[in-house]
Amino acid sequence: MIFTKNNISSDLERAWQNDKDHVIHPYANYERFHEDGSVVYTKGDRHFIYDDKDRKYLDGIAGLWCVNIGHGNVEMAAHIGEQAKNLAYFNTFEDATSPSAANLAAKLASLCPGSLNHVFFGTGGSMANDSAIKIVHYYFNMLGMPKKKKILSRNLGYHGSTYLAHALTGISSTHIGFDLPKDMITYLSAPYPYRRPDEMTIQEFCDSLIEEMEHKILELGPETIACFIAEPIMGAGGVIVPPDGYLIKAYELCKKYNILVIADEVVTAFGRLGHLVASKEKFDVQPDIIVLAKGLSSGYIPLGATVISETIHKVISRPKPENPYFSHGFTYSGHALACATGLKNIEIMEREDFCGHVRTVGPYFKKQLKTLEDLPVVGEVRGSHFMLALEYVKDKRTKESFPAEINIGKRIYHSAKKRGLIIRPIGPINVLSPPLTYDKDAIDETVDIMKKSILETMNDLSKEGHL
Ligand code: PMP
Repeated sequence: MIFTKNNISSDLERAWQNDKDHVIHPYANYERFHEDGSVVYTKGDRHFIYDDKDRKYLDGIAGLWCVNIGHGNVEMAAHIGEQAKNLAYFNTFEDATSPSAANLAAKLASLCPGSLNHVFFGTGGSMANDSAIKIVHYYFNMLGMPKKKKILSRNLGYHGSTYLAHALTGISSTHIGFDLPKDMITYLSAPYPYRRPDEMTIQEFCDSLIEEMEHKILELGPETIACFIAEPIMGAGGVIVPPDGYLIKAYELCKKYNILVIADEVVTAFGRLGHLVASKEKFDVQPDIIVLAKGLSSGYIPLGATVISETIHKVISRPKPENPYFSHGFTYSGHALACATGLKNIEIMEREDFCGHVRTVGPYFKKQLKTLEDLPVVGEVRGSHFMLALEYVKDKRTKESFPAEINIGKRIYHSAKKRGLIIRPIGPINVLSPPLTYDKDAIDETVDIMKKSILETMNDLSKEGHL
């Protein structure tokens, strides 16, 4: 359907109704949805997004940590059109490939640290994490170590929504009602400095997490543990930045006990923290597998990748006499158009120096947002560069939370939206993760709107007797 001036309103209204009648939304909130339906967003331009009434918003979340080069990039759109005309898709099973799949794999090998040089493609983060775990299990089976199956994950970690990726996700409220395959998984404590026990310093807290991890490894038996999966900074769990040294020490334990490390960089890669890949450059750690998605294609086409080490690849690519196949793969693995999008995305990011921009402007963003800690309900502003969050509390001294039914994060989200800013509510937390095109003007406006929205919400809460 082509929208024209004459039909735009009725067609968009029809879209709204069709959505209400037929779409099952990810993380649908049915209490609200049956009443209100959805907002129909129709176009984007850099870090702005427009709804069906042509209202303009600052996109403070890059779609969902995705649109790193910004909306409506014409160079990207033209490239996607060209590639679609040439070859949108052919499978990459067994003996077929495309220039874009081959060249994107080589590019990712050059960007990832250490010997990570082989890439398995999929269409998103969950699929890439599922693939990582399958590869790890296959690897240990091929090595004659079939007992090595258990997975260390963490409370509040987010790894996706397919059956296994959801089980890896340590946000227990999302598990309700699903029979997730959790038998293989052990959840370690979240490295959440703000919520550490009162009496502990950050250093003591870090040591206690590492002690807990080693204790668990010994309790389970290292010979039964295959891997540890972790986001360098937790995203959907609430932008949780681990204490300094935590990742290095956790990786050291894994090395000591022959446990492979999967870095879930679905959010942290492609510029959000000022580097194309954050593990080595920002955190000085060397994983065995890095999982990429979202910013890999800036969300222009779904794309995910599992990048594995030379050591793992050598083992899984060994021919087997009983069956020569590595029997894992998806129709859309190595999708020509998606990989061309990924390549173009990286070309644009490198040429325009998005990482440099984030490294320059990111500290200003955090500094300005930190000023909101002066407000009585802002317990903590945390995060790094373009991955930031505010956590709200009822009492700053005791860190007492608001009752869940107050929905403080959601209220502030609505208040900010009314003022032209989209943020993400996660319980008592609001996340900010904008496109990397965000400049000082956008940052100043964001902080100003956040302040007004928090003050308005405080005023409402006080009238209702909650403050
Ligand atoms: N890992 C992380 C760290 C994520 O944030 C997400 C999605 N928010 C995923 C995995 C899952 O990715 P997808 O939704 O593309 O399957």
